[in-house]
Parts: sequence; C-alpha cells; structure tokens
Amino acid sequence: MLPVVALVGRPNVGKSTLFNRLTHSRDALVADFPGLTRDRQYGQASYEQRQFIVVDTGGITGDEEGIDTLMAQQSLQAIEEADVVFFLVDARAGLLPADQLIADHLRKTDKQVFLLANKVDGIDGDSESAEFFSLGLGNVHQIAAAHGRGVAQLIQSALLPLEQEFPEMLVQKTAQEEELDAEEQLEKLQSLPIKLAIVGKPNVGKSTLTNRILGEDRVVVFDMPGTTRDSVYIPLQRDDREYIIIDTAGVRKRKKVSEAIEKFSIVKTLKAIEEANVVLLVIDAREGISDQDLSLLGFVLNSGRSLVVAVNKWDGLDTDVKDEIKRELDRRLGFIDFARLHFISALHGSGVGNLFESVDEAYRGATKRINTSMLTQIMKMAQEDHQPPMVRGRRIKMKYAHAGGYNPPIIVIHGNQVEDIPNAYKRYLMNYFRKALDVMGTPIKMEFREGA
Ligand code: GDP
Ligand code: GDP
Repeated sequence: MLPVVALVGRPNVGKSTLFNRLTHSRDALVADFPGLTRDRQYGQASYEQRQFIVVDTGGITGDEEGIDTLMAQQSLQAIEEADVVFFLVDARAGLLPADQLIADHLRKTDKQVFLLANKVDGIDGDSESAEFFSLGLGNVHQIAAAHGRGVAQLIQSALLPLEQEFPEMLVQKTAQEEELDAEEQLEKLQSLPIKLAIVGKPNVGKSTLTNRILGEDRVVVFDMPGTTRDSVYIPLQRDDREYIIIDTAGVRKRKKVSEAIEKFSIVKTLKAIEEANVVLLVIDAREGISDQDLSLLGFVLNSGRSLVVAVNKWDGLDTDVKDEIKRELDRRLGFIDFARLHFISALHGSGVGNLFESVDEAYRGATKRINTSMLTQIMKMAQEDHQPPMVRGRRIKMKYAHAGGYNPPIIVIHGNQVEDIPNAYKRYLMNYFRKALDVMGTPIKMEFREGA
C-alpha cells in the first residue's frame, strides 16, 4: 500500500509538469524511444526516497456552474481516494474565480490539502503568492514544477506524517541493492545509442546545425513516428558510433511534408532534454545570453543530463566583438564549469565536427563505471586532505561511498551527520570527485545517507 497524492487545479497551472517531475523515474532515461507516451492519469512516483501514487486530475475550468459540474466526476473521485491533495495555483496568473471555487470545495473535505503556488521561477515568489493566503487553506508553498524548485521540501513535509501509516513508502534499498541497480542501468545505457538533443531558443541556428551535422556525415536516415508536438528522432552513425539526434527544430519533418516552421515549444524542449543522454545547447553569439537561454540551461542542469554548449554564428565577427562575447560568457556561464564550450558556425560548418568529441566525452563521463572501493578511497583522501567542519558541536564523519546511478553519475555517501554537510564542503567534495574520476561534460550528483 502506497499513499495517493492527487493533483488538482485549473488547466495550465502546471499539474502535468509536476506529475512528470514526480513520476520521472531513472528508468525513463533508458525507456524505449520515442517512449514519450506515459500514463498521464496515474503514475508511480519516486521522489526523495519515497514512493507514492500520483493522480493527475483533469483541469477544472470554472466555466461550468456549481461545484458538482465544475469538478469533473473523476476529479471529485480522485480527491476522495487521495491521502493528500496538492492544489496548484498559478503565481503568475494570480488568483482567479475558479481557484476560489476549487478552494471552497477543498475546505469542506477532511483531506490534508497543500496549496502550491507554482511558477515562482524568475518572479518575486513572496509577493506574487501572498494573495493565495485568502483561500483559507493555510500555508502557501512556493514551487516551480518545471525546474523542481521547492518540490523536494514539499514532498518531505507532505509525506512525513504518512510514514507511520505507509511504511512501504520509504524506499529502503541496501547499498548493495542500489549498486546492483546502478550496474544494471549502466549496462542498459551502454547497449543503446547516444541520444543527443539539440535545443535552444528560436533562431539560434538549430535547424542549420542539424542539417549541417546530417549533411557532413553520410547518414542513413529513416523516419521515426512522432506527432507534431514531439521532436523528430534521427538515427545517425558516425565513426562507428550510433547516435539518435533528438531534433526539436523539426528539420526532417519540415523537409518531408513542407510544413511551416514549427513554433518553439518549451514542452517539446523539456521532453527532449528528459529523453536525451547529452544535451547540445545552442546559443546565438550575436544575441548574447538571454533569460531564455539561462532558463533552458536551468532545465538542463536540473535534469542531470550531460551538456555541451555551442555558441553559434561565430562567423564574420571582429576580434574585439568576439573578445567581448567571451567575457560575457565567462561572466554569466562561469557556474557551469563542467561543460565544454564550442564556438561554431553552423552556416559555414566551422567547429561543427569538433562538437562530437565533446559529446562523446560528456557521455563517457556520464557512464563511466564507478565502484565502491574506488569511491570510498577518493572520499577518504578528500576527507584527509580537508576535514569536514563540526556541525552543532558534532564531527561529521563520512564512512563509505557507492554508485547510485549513471547519467548523471550519482555518488551515495554514508556516514555520521553527513546530512548536515555544509554546501561549501559539498562543493569541495564534488570538485575532488570530478578531478579524481576525471569526468567532464556531466554534472555529478551526491546523495548523503545517515548511518552505516
Ligand atoms: P496543467 O494543464 O495544469 O497540466 O499544466 P501544464 O503542466 O501543462 O503546464 C501549463 C504551462 O505552464 C506549460 O506551458 C508549462 O511549461 C508551464 N509551467 C509549468 N510549471 C511551470 C513552472 O514551474 N514555471 C514556469 N515558468 N512555467 C511552468
Ligand atoms: P532555429 O530556429 O534555431 O532552427 O534557427 P535556424 O537554423 O532556422 O537559423 C535562424 C537564422 O540564423 C537563419 O537565417 C540562419 O541562416 C541563420 N544562421 C544559422 N546559423 C548561422 C551561423 O552559423 N552564422 C550565421 N551568420 N547565421 C546563421
């Protein structure tokens, strides 16, 4: 028996985005492509070491009259069956009458309701979500479902009271079991082609680059099924390696059915990132770094996928302009120290060939086998070189480390007080692991477990 969490709210508040985030298991990484069709209604979620069932109810429009017609039968039923209700509102759109109607209904149920103000990324969350207190549902939890912000804390506070009633919810795998799972995942990853998503905002040159890549190599292209909303999957063989290009610009489709240029879709881009092993983020040198670039970068970092950045349209620029652009990139992208940066011209082809060296390197890094003895040894060396600080008068002691997954590599560290390790020390550890393991192009994830 697992607890059931129901997602309710108006259409467009971000229910399916949250649903996808909660149900996106590691297996999705290696799901058969296109593999984009998942059950949108019920899903098994695994998040923050907890398993639960999540139900995405249809949107409630508020155009109908009366609460009975307003709430579709299935939404009402989902609320009845749920142990916890997540009621989503849109912090950007503000409080709307339909929110009020849903709240009226929820106040009458005896269910535990969590009010979530979604989409607080890039806005002043505190002031934009203040008005939702008037719904009378208590605390307003600020989240950004698309980026994952606030979701971990939410899951922890919402599910903690249910742990007694649903002990099965806690994913209690032993270190050995986790390591075996990771090994299995690695074997699957190694038997599949490298999925490379080419993403970027409109007009940065994604289609030009995709065509360039396909044109330069003699490729056998065969069509993959895909609806207009989905990306196009293009198998590509290059130096005896197999890839699948996830083309968000829809190059192949456009060529084939002479369709109008597809409009940029953030949903499509997010799906492509989730599906990929390596993401190639294209930026327009002439436009500088925009908020949209940074938010795409945020999605990539959050997904844990490997990353290569291509700064496109590097042709015909004066040296001083190039220097200025490089300085700006340094200033604004300095925080992604693991990703390789390439200056290319998709139009003329310069620099395009070298991209694949970094793509391969990033994939190698993401799937480089790591084992317990190696990780534990590196961890101990790091600990000897630089002791973790005391926290509330207690000494942090890391005991051993093992693999928890790949793409991104996950390092699980066991010990005493490890959950209290300060961020500065985590960064130190991360850099230590990166150097010692010699991996580039992929983020490394660390998880901390209390006790032996
Ligand atoms: P649903 O109809 O309630 O299932 O809503 P969706 O999950 O389809 O989301 C509606 C729109 O809001 C989509 O364009 C999402 O990309 C966007 N969205 C969802 N969550 C967030 C978020 O955290 N931040 C931002 N900025 N947009 C979001
Ligand atoms: P997409 O929307 O990201 O797929 O962008 P496109 O590939 O359609 O390119 C948008 C515009 O930028 C087109 O006019 C391209 O010719 C131009 N473009 C693409 N790559 C380059 C490049 O490397 N240099 C220059 N100067 N223009 C480019």
